Amino acid sequence: MSRPRIVIVGAGFAGYRAARTLSRIARGAAEIVLVNPIDYFLYVPLLPEVASGVLEARRVSVSLTGTLPGVRLLLGEADSIDLASRKVSLVDPECNRREISYDRLLLAAGSVNKLLPIPGVTEHAHGFRGLPEAVYLHDHITRQIELADTAESAAERDARCTFVVVGAGYTGTEVAAHGKLFTDELARRHPDLRDRKNPQWMLLDVAPRVLPELAEHMSETATRVLSRRGVDIRMGTSVKEATEEGVRLTDGSVVPTRSLIWCVGVRPDPLVSDLGLATDKGRLVVDEYLNVPGHPDVFAAGDAAAVPDLTRPGEVTPMTAQHAERQGQTVAYNIAASYGRAERRPYSHRDLGFVVDLGGAEAAANPLKVPLSGLAAKAVTRSYHLMAMPGNRIRTAADWLIDAVLPKDDVQLGLVRSDSVPLENSSPELPVRLRSEKQST
Ligand SMILES: Cc1cc2nc3c(=O)[nH]c(=O)nc-3n(C[C@H](O)[C@H](O)[C@H](O)COP(=O)(O)OP(=O)(O)OC[C@H]3O[C@@H](n4cnc5c(N)ncnc54)[C@H](O)[C@@H]3O)c2cc1C
Repeated sequence: MSRPRIVIVGAGFAGYRAARTLSRIARGAAEIVLVNPIDYFLYVPLLPEVASGVLEARRVSVSLTGTLPGVRLLLGEADSIDLASRKVSLVDPECNRREISYDRLLLAAGSVNKLLPIPGVTEHAHGFRGLPEAVYLHDHITRQIELADTAESAAERDARCTFVVVGAGYTGTEVAAHGKLFTDELARRHPDLRDRKNPQWMLLDVAPRVLPELAEHMSETATRVLSRRGVDIRMGTSVKEATEEGVRLTDGSVVPTRSLIWCVGVRPDPLVSDLGLATDKGRLVVDEYLNVPGHPDVFAAGDAAAVPDLTRPGEVTPMTAQHAERQGQTVAYNIAASYGRAERRPYSHRDLGFVVDLGGAEAAANPLKVPLSGLAAKAVTRSYHLMAMPGNRIRTAADWLIDAVLPKDDVQLGLVRSDSVPLENSSPELPVRLRSEKQST
């Protein structure tokens, strides 16, 4: 008789951790299949360092097959789920369609870029959610500085040297902080750019302060560091319209730029909202055991799930890696418990604090609510990332060391074309042909 099958959709923080835990505690009881469009786990929090040339792209991508013994990787993107017949339909990277049946299903498909109905944004903004987008942004920034050097007019040169980041959460703040240091270093290598003010970075948000969801001291640290570097921080401001030539802001100003970087946040992957199950702001409703009510064989975790926060009654857990990873572990135990291999347990986790890397020797952190900035925060931030990464630690630490003593690489590899990373795209990893089919449906 064949073994029962556990299918996990998504190999991010929640899915990866669940697969790893299940491979340890339930391998004998069931076959474990991981469905993911790419063959690596992406350590998303370090993407700003890839975009700014601090880290090589491979450092943040950890091999799934190399680190998940006993787990079968099925490359593809799930696009529909039949809950009655317990089948997942998926499309593989070469656009072949296939189906896989399950006995237990874990939905951990994470989130996608949040779009707002602002004219021109879909066409002209760069998203920041996956590795192709970070690699593309690195090339794009490098190219703007190189083209600025030979621009035919001062207006063109200024536009190419202006970078607008929308969204001052941790992603946008880190992108602006690292990006400013990166472009300052690039500009110093171009004699004709030396006579002008440093490349300009703007950080916009409708919120009243930078890092609005984090502790005030983190916001103050980030604001101080960014202002000192010359980043133009405009809170209570967003983009009204984007064109090829620049952006019009809600405060009425017009900013000529070729670089609009969209970090306004994320929304749950549409896969879960299409299931006909209860959702909360697009996230699949689950109980404290990460089980979908009325479906004892279906579980969800991470950004895609609305998990009750037992430490804050009435709330759901925020969309963070810290929660997603721990939910992955809890849900693995609860799935194993359904085979009599573990004890069922409710999910409960109190935030341990947050870290925000601001580039150079700067960071803001509040481990266990202790407010830190400067070198102490930097040490905590980097140690945290090294501990949290499931692989590539030595290579990552080596990159940090090299970055501290050597100049940054200033070449465009040109491996990712702009049409491969449209903003309105849940999976930049999918082949372009398949993506355009998806968008037209
Ligand atoms: C730039 C950036 C920086 C961040 N920094 C931090 C930070 O410092 N600290 C923090 O706590 N959080 C941070 N976050 C948030 C954190 O990354 C997310 O909360 C976390 O990744 C959620 O984990 P997840 O497992 O739910 O989803 P993800 O990690 O997004 O993984 C989802 C996986 O599912 C796959 N997938 C998607 N759709 C399908 C499908 N249909 N079929 C199959 N597979 C699918 C994806 O390819 C991906 O592998 C950051 C996010 C971003 C974008």
